[in-house]
Amino acid sequence: MKLPITGGCNCGAVRFEISTEPRLTSVCHCRECQRFSGGGGMTNIVLQKSDVSFTKGAPISHDEMGTGDASSSSLG
Ligand SMILES: [Zn+2]
Repeated sequence: MKLPITGGCNCGAVRFEISTEPRLTSVCHCRECQRFSGGGGMTNIVLQKSDVSFTKGAPISHDEMGTGDASSSSLG
């Protein structure tokens, strides 16, 4: 994986840079991920906060606890 990983939101208001490989990646198809993505599922990554820096703007924080329905998730 080529580092750093850069990306941002669709409108370009927020840009980020990730300095290390994600500790975990997963594709989840639980109801929360379907609603959040507006599709069949969502790709998620797990990082330490210190591994991410925002190079433009800042995201709005959103905390939500999932249902814990692991049977609809796949880790990889
Ligand atoms: Zn999910």
